[in-house]
Amino acid sequence: MPVLKTDHPSAPMHIPDIIIAIDGYSSTGKSSFAKRIAREAGFLYLDSGALYRGITLFAIENGMIDSNNTVDEKRLADALPGLDLHFEAGKDGSLTYMGERCIEKEIRSLAVSRKVSPVSAVPCVRGYVDRKLRELGSRKRVVIDGRDIGTTVFPDAELKIFMTADPEVRAMRRMKEMIGKGEDVKFEDVLENVRERDYIDSHRKVSPLAKAPDAVVLDNSHMTPDDQMVWIRDIVSRLPGASD
Ligand code: C5P
Repeated sequence: MPVLKTDHPSAPMHIPDIIIAIDGYSSTGKSSFAKRIAREAGFLYLDSGALYRGITLFAIENGMIDSNNTVDEKRLADALPGLDLHFEAGKDGSLTYMGERCIEKEIRSLAVSRKVSPVSAVPCVRGYVDRKLRELGSRKRVVIDGRDIGTTVFPDAELKIFMTADPEVRAMRRMKEMIGKGEDVKFEDVLENVRERDYIDSHRKVSPLAKAPDAVVLDNSHMTPDDQMVWIRDIVSRLPGASD
């Protein structure tokens, strides 16, 4: 599909006071895209996955999840009201905090990644994250990425984007990222993992990954990050209240 090019891909973006919900498959570059929109438009970026990861770290550290990934839902439900997870501005964007402790690095660890899916399937966990996001998003001018933002958390978001790309393309991107971090991985294994996560995310009982009927699809299989910015500028220029 041809992509519109402009002479000024990095000029500031003028977006009305809205909520932008970005959902989609794993390794489609949702967070990089969301962060760049937030930076260029002066919006607040909210990383819903970071909250799921933060609760997962809390559950691991407090022995609420066993080696079979069974979550002690009762203890977690009792503890969640007292859990202070929030974002603070850092040098390169927002950082996730648990109380006074910055947990940004720990929540990206493999140990947390391995347990985050079962924890994020627990209803009280979803309730905690949904409430937090709604509170933070109530002032508008936010861009939020996740799996169920446009369908469950902000079904009235003024702009919903659903990101997808060919599994092979996503696996190749992920593999390059992992090799960059010094991991030794095979393409076939990464591809299998991408397909498996697509299946789990789309088939879980609570808030499965799905495209909202009014979401705009962004297939970035053959797009660069700059192409995506051209695409979003075109979309936002047609929103009610948009100006140049
Ligand atoms: O986006 P990220 O990979 O950091 O998300 C981590 C995990 O949190 C996902 O694999 C998914 O299981 C869960 N998640 C979710 N709903 C969201 C965002 C993330 O279930 N809105």
